Amino acid sequence: MAEQLAGRTALVTGGGRGIGAAIALRLAGEGADVAITYVRAADRARKVVAEIEAGGRRATAIQADSADPDAVVAAVDRTAAELGRLDILVNNAGIAPYGPLEDVTLEEVDRTLAVHARAVFVASQAAARHLGPGGRIISIGSSLAERVPYEGWTLYSMSKSALLGLTRGLARDLGPRGITANVVQPGSIDTEMNPDGSPESETEKAFIALGRYGRAEEIAAMVAHLAGPGGAYVTGAAIPVDGGVTA
Ligand code: NDP
Repeated sequence: MAEQLAGRTALVTGGGRGIGAAIALRLAGEGADVAITYVRAADRARKVVAEIEAGGRRATAIQADSADPDAVVAAVDRTAAELGRLDILVNNAGIAPYGPLEDVTLEEVDRTLAVHARAVFVASQAAARHLGPGGRIISIGSSLAERVPYEGWTLYSMSKSALLGLTRGLARDLGPRGITANVVQPGSIDTEMNPDGSPESETEKAFIALGRYGRAEEIAAMVAHLAGPGGAYVTGAAIPVDGGVTA
């Protein structure tokens, strides 16, 4: 793999498993040093760090609940301090509140917005203090911000839609400094959040043009593209990587 990210450092929130782990490993594979955050799965995060270090890059795992703004800011600052700089922020950590509208509690609304929107704002604001020209902010949104083909996802869709305004605003605010901000919008990706083969996955597949679930590595490939030289002139964009579910 070409080392197009040599000399750069990245922070990937929720990088211990699923899409975040695939992103962390891919960025490291392209030469970046990588910090990841986790909230519960410390063992999984340590495994990702060990794999990155075995490949010759520096890595660190930081426990930081995205629902806690102070922890998010501390994770950003610690990445820059431990790895020497910060060039790429990937806002990936996420949860999947799902269920009948009438059952959604205010507590779930607050937590979901805290993890999916407030944390991204706070992390981006903190990262902006460290990023220089060529800096990248890449957030993982969802195809459900564009189209909601099935029931039970109102809260999730609302929270991921917030990333659109946030990303466009960041693109404007940080563009003059040569920093880009984009959101990658996955469709159905085979992870613990949304396992291929579940009864729900058969419903989802009916709406996917390519007729199959995506792999975490297919999201990581787009993130790596945006993080690298190929992403230099892309900003304020919402990029679908969804097998055509929004086609
Ligand atoms: P997983 O459930 O496999 O992984 C979720 C990750 O987020 C874990 O690393 C987890 O950390 C972390 N996380 C969860 N809550 C918090 C929190 N409060 N603070 C910090 N980290 C947290 O999900 P995916 O990999 O599938 O999802 C990754 C992103 O992609 C999410 O934003 C999700 O919304 C989005 N997405 C996923 C799709 C899919 O079909 N899978 C489709 C569209 C978007 P820990 O391991 O410590 O628990």
